[in-house]
Amino acid sequence: MAKYYDIIIIGSGPAGYTAAIYAGRANLSVLMFQGYQVGGQLMLTSDVENYPGFEEGVLGPEMMEKFEGQARRFGTEMLAEDVTAVDFSKRPFRITTDTGEYLARAVIISTGASAQWLGLPSEQQLQGRGVSACATCDGFFFKNKDVAVVGGGDTAMEEATFLTRYASHVTVIHRRDTLRASKIMQDRAFKNPKISFIFDTEVTEVLGEDAITGLRLRNLKTREESVLPVQGFFLAIGHKPNTDLFKGSITMDKAGYIVPVEHTMTNIPGVFAAGDVTDHRYRQAVTAAGDGCRAAIDVERWFESMGEDTGMGIENWD
Ligand code: NAP
Repeated sequence: MAKYYDIIIIGSGPAGYTAAIYAGRANLSVLMFQGYQVGGQLMLTSDVENYPGFEEGVLGPEMMEKFEGQARRFGTEMLAEDVTAVDFSKRPFRITTDTGEYLARAVIISTGASAQWLGLPSEQQLQGRGVSACATCDGFFFKNKDVAVVGGGDTAMEEATFLTRYASHVTVIHRRDTLRASKIMQDRAFKNPKISFIFDTEVTEVLGEDAITGLRLRNLKTREESVLPVQGFFLAIGHKPNTDLFKGSITMDKAGYIVPVEHTMTNIPGVFAAGDVTDHRYRQAVTAAGDGCRAAIDVERWFESMGEDTGMGIENWD
């Protein structure tokens, strides 16, 4: 027998928690699969200074704790498990995890996005031993060390600037001669005496056995190879939406972001999507939270339009 909910929310970032708060307050029964990485990308962030309401800023993990507490207050059940399969072919929708099967009248997908990796074998080998995709999480371990950041976007500038709090020097390596980052972020990085830039260059290998000793670089214009000695290497080359689970059933763009067809509803009536999983443009906590609110309201209105009672509570279903 599987438990049957009004809404199952997959993912526990700002979009998922906000959807849970709204749905809970609308008296809908809600189960959230938080994933093994509870809290999403904000758990890997230090200071959040642009989320309204936190005048002095707030730490990412602290903010997510508050989101979670607020969602629990309105009755959301939470499981810190990854969803392993979904069946959206008929209602109720069937969601499977390692521990069981769950049913829902509607689903909100808010699985977010994850950092991209270069895909070098040596990068994976040294992950957690000097290679990181999160300066805010791991920067502290690189006090007075030389580190490098790869990427030319806002994230790269932000990570490089943040790392100067700890590192003795930060080298930004970018594959072109023009940065993609916004002017203000570029200026901040250019002005920082602890940051230098290597342009038109790719990282071909991360060197070291148990810890990083350097990076092998190749200049893309001259094809010249060189070694940059560093003890830390940070990836800042963008993100990938966490949508593998939904391939084949949910309409996505070519980068894998879910494309909603009617407000937040996907091509499958009853399946909604919110937050970074649908958004490669804004990707802010506040826009994701706003999206979660929209999805919960859309679900409620969809139930109404279908003439379905809401707030039926949790039932068991054979
Ligand atoms: P992004 O803007 O997509 O930039 C990714 C960077 O990585 C680009 O410079 C790209 O090079 C490079 N890159 C991608 N794949 C690569 C590869 N395989 N090897 C080497 N380099 C590679 O990603 P982002 O910096 O994470 O930013 C994403 C969005 O979040 C943006 O809209 C950004 O404005 C926003 N954001 C805002 C803030 C802020 O305002 N505080 C902070 C962080 C992010 P090319 O330039 O050659 O394509």
